Amino acid sequence: MSARVLAGPPVAAALLADAAARASRLPTPPNLVIVRVGDDPASASYVRGKSRKAGEVGLRSTVHALPETTSQAQLLALIDTLNRDDDVNGILVQLPLPPQIAEAAVLHAIDPRKDVDGFHPLNVGELWAGRPALTPCTPAGIMYLLEHYGIPVAGARAVIVGRSHLVGRPLAALLLNADATVTVAHSRTRDLGAVTREADILIAAAGRPDLITPEMVKPGATVIDVGINRVLNAEGKGHLVGDVHPDVAAVAGALTLVPGGVGPMTVAQLLANTVRAAELQHAAYSDSAQTDAAPTDAVQ
Ligand code: NAD
Repeated sequence: MSARVLAGPPVAAALLADAAARASRLPTPPNLVIVRVGDDPASASYVRGKSRKAGEVGLRSTVHALPETTSQAQLLALIDTLNRDDDVNGILVQLPLPPQIAEAAVLHAIDPRKDVDGFHPLNVGELWAGRPALTPCTPAGIMYLLEHYGIPVAGARAVIVGRSHLVGRPLAALLLNADATVTVAHSRTRDLGAVTREADILIAAAGRPDLITPEMVKPGATVIDVGINRVLNAEGKGHLVGDVHPDVAAVAGALTLVPGGVGPMTVAQLLANTVRAAELQHAAYSDSAQTDAAPTDAVQ
């Protein structure tokens, strides 16, 4: 392997330390509420991980685990209560949801100021308008990682493989906001290799093991592997791989590994978003308190 490895864990630790320091300057520890519906073991494990990490950096967190049979109306009623509760700074509804609940209705219902996943249309629109407030965690974590390792983004040619709302699209907006020239490739892209070979920064977020092979990578490029794929090895044991073939390390200038790359950034960014949400809410509260108290000579 000749490429420089961009390790995720130390960068996630730096992001968490920064979030913890900012949280400690707030009047009360930021409070993240996570709502989970159903019995999916993977979702339950993600939620436990997020909640544990929140505690480690001095945030409060509460988990609402609702039964699989929860109706959309019941979930929306809970979100409404959480929206109105001034002691709740961040609300995260763990996806996927059971089929009787429309994901879009739930994401629309969360107060955009508490939308720590950054999926509310208002936050999506602000991101594309170049005024990001709360941005989706995996893409924001990738930007932090690139910055941490000093990978130049402004003026670079960035190619993202994958156009999901979770990763590809918001990452395209963030890279564009950071002055990269951005191409988004997807399952219908013709001659994917010709597109990816243009990239100074290549981000693979397709969920396809070994999709990116060495001949698809420009020598010296930075390759960010977002994919998380469970595959079986020769002995039939499951393990995790990304979307990038291991031989890419011989061509790339720098790359992230799976595991140990982008994965840890996502949870760290969620907690950073929770602190950001709390900061924005406290700033808005202080502003309105000052406005209320200020003498006015306005004509009555
Ligand atoms: P998704 O299934 O919603 O989207 C996949 C995208 O890849 C689609 O836009 C599709 O067009 C594109 N694609 C699929 N096959 C392709 C091909 N052969 N060539 C070109 N494009 C192709 O997935 P997602 O939610 O965006 O996640 C993508 C991957 O990233 C998954 O492996 C997921 O597990 C992983 N992921 C990791 C993290 C993390 O924290 N590291 C977070 C989110 C997602």
